[in-house]
Formats: sequence, C-alpha cells, structure tokens
Amino acid sequence: MAIARVAIVGLGLIGSSIARAVKDRLPQVAVTGYDASADVRDVARALGLCDTVADDPVAAVAEADLVIFAVPVGGMADAARAAAAGLRGGVIVSDVGSSKAGVGAALRAALPGHVVIPAHPVAGTENSGPAAGFASLFDGRWCIVTPDADAPAAAVAALTGFWEALGAKVDVMDAAHHDMVLAVTSHLPHLIAYTIVGTASELEEVTESEVIKYSAGGFRDFTRIAASDPVMWRDVFLANKDAVLATLQRFNEDLTVLQQAIRRGDAAKLEDWFTRTRAIRRSIIAEGQDDPAPDFGRRH
Ligand code: NAD
Repeated sequence: MAIARVAIVGLGLIGSSIARAVKDRLPQVAVTGYDASADVRDVARALGLCDTVADDPVAAVAEADLVIFAVPVGGMADAARAAAAGLRGGVIVSDVGSSKAGVGAALRAALPGHVVIPAHPVAGTENSGPAAGFASLFDGRWCIVTPDADAPAAAVAALTGFWEALGAKVDVMDAAHHDMVLAVTSHLPHLIAYTIVGTASELEEVTESEVIKYSAGGFRDFTRIAASDPVMWRDVFLANKDAVLATLQRFNEDLTVLQQAIRRGDAAKLEDWFTRTRAIRRSIIAEGQDDPAPDFGRRH
C-alpha cells in the first residue's frame, strides 16, 4: 500500500515533528494538518509545517491514505468523530497516543468500518506545541505498533514502513502488553517525578530558594520530567489506570524494602541494589537510547 498523502490531526510536539520528518525524509508524500486551536494552525502555517493546514478536520483528512491522530489521549474519540465524514475508504487510521488499549477501542468505536492501527512513537521531550517539534525526534527511537488480530497485513506493513522512513525502529505488540511495559518505563517515572517535585516544593523546613539553588544534587533531573505537559499526562494516567496502579503497587513494595534496608543499616542490600540499577543505565547507553556523556551531556 503506497502512502501518497498523510493527514495529521493535532500539530503539537508529536504532530509537528511527524510533519517535519515527512518533509525531511519523505518529500514525495503530501502532508495536510489540522489542529483544534486556531493559534496552533497559525503557527503551523507560519512555520510551513505542512503543505496545507485545513481549518476543519473533515477537509484535513479528505484524500489522505494515512491519518494520524496526535492529540491528547482523552481527546482521540472526539477528534476522530469530528474527522469521520472526510475519511475515504481504504484509509489507514492511526495515532501516537501514549496508552494503547483504550485509545484503540475509542478510535474503533468512533470510526466503525475503518482500518485502525494504533501506534506509539516512544520519543518526546518535556516541551509541547508546534514550535517544539523537530524532524529528527524519531531517529533511532522505537515506535510500537499495536494492531488487532484482524488488521490487514498490508496496512500494518505500510504503517511500519512509514515509521521506519521517519527514522524509527518498529516493534509490533499487543496493546495490553504495551500498556504494561510503558507503565513501568514511562508512566511510573513520570508519576514519581511529579510526586517528588511536588513534595520538595512543599517541605516547610527547606525553602523554595534552597530547592532551586541545590537542585544539581539530583532534583533537577526529576524536574525535566515533571515539566511535561499537564493535559497530556492527566489523560495518560486516566487512560492507563490499571497498568499504572499495578506497577505502582510493585514500586511501593520495593520502596518499603529500601526503607527497611536504610533503617536496619543493611549496607549490602543497598549496595547490591544500586549496582544493579547502575548496570541498567549502562545497558541503555549501550543500546544507543541515551547519550554516554556524563550528566546527560550537559555542558559545564
Ligand atoms: P501537544 O500538547 O504538544 O499537542 C497536542 C495538540 O493537539 C495541541 O496543539 C492541541 O490543540 C491539539 N488538539 C487537542 N484536541 C484536539 C482535537 N480534538 N482536534 C484537533 N486537535 C486537537 O501534545 P503532544 O506532546 O504532541 O502529544 C500528542 C499525543 O502524543 C498524546 O496522545 C501523547 O500521549 C502522545 N505522545 C506524546 C509524547 C511526548 O513526549 N510529548 C511522546 C509520545 C507520544
């Protein structure tokens, strides 16, 4: 299946990065964009992100071979319903949402009779909006595609090829498994960062200026994650509730183990644990998923 035109609904960080990557890597593919915000549409036009930025979703998706919904997870169903009348037969409908089982169900319910193949590029930053995107965002990053058992193989292959052309590596997995894996690798870390940054700001014995002044001790690395888009993350936790709560239960148990080791002065337990976690960081670097430079490559 050839993809000659892609429509992107939602031109924020991820949608605008897809638009930029298509222009950069697939110049023969036409890009139409739409965003519910008139301001975002204006910025998209000023930046020349797409060949056409439409003022309504039905016009945006007409003629597209691939439609990608890049809106917050909780807005997928509304965005799909608003565009439904413009979809042509044979179109591949996809998305980039950070949780997959609920989003897949919502898109299929909103677009009966259409081929829906959800996907999640595991790439992003703490910034949002159309100006925050960049063409190389997906380079060397994984994109997880979660087709149903009855998804046409040719459509799955076309979507996989599209993401590979944008620089991503593609894995295909079941949506429920995706949600459990991402609960551990992304959603729980965000929850922890949101918690610790909130806790620090409320500690009465430590002033806010001290929290900021001494943040290089570790705190500031959490603040990058805790600066992520509030609406996007509100929706992720509501959509992936079960997997997040299951993972959080395990986290709480492990936290209690470490708490006990500290109280009992169990040096061996702490050292073993931290040795294991240091090895995980080294594997991430070995896999090319982060910069080997110390301190995340910050210049000092
Ligand atoms: P963003 O806030 O930068 O952009 C979202 C855009 O969607 C906004 O411009 C908003 O106006 C628009 N929008 C909202 N509702 C709409 C609707 N009904 N119709 C049309 N446009 C609408 O967010 P983002 O970071 O690009 O996230 C988009 C999606 O990508 C989310 O589902 C998120 O879970 C997923 N995602 C994000 C990241 C990340 O790191 N930010 C990574 C991977 C996947």
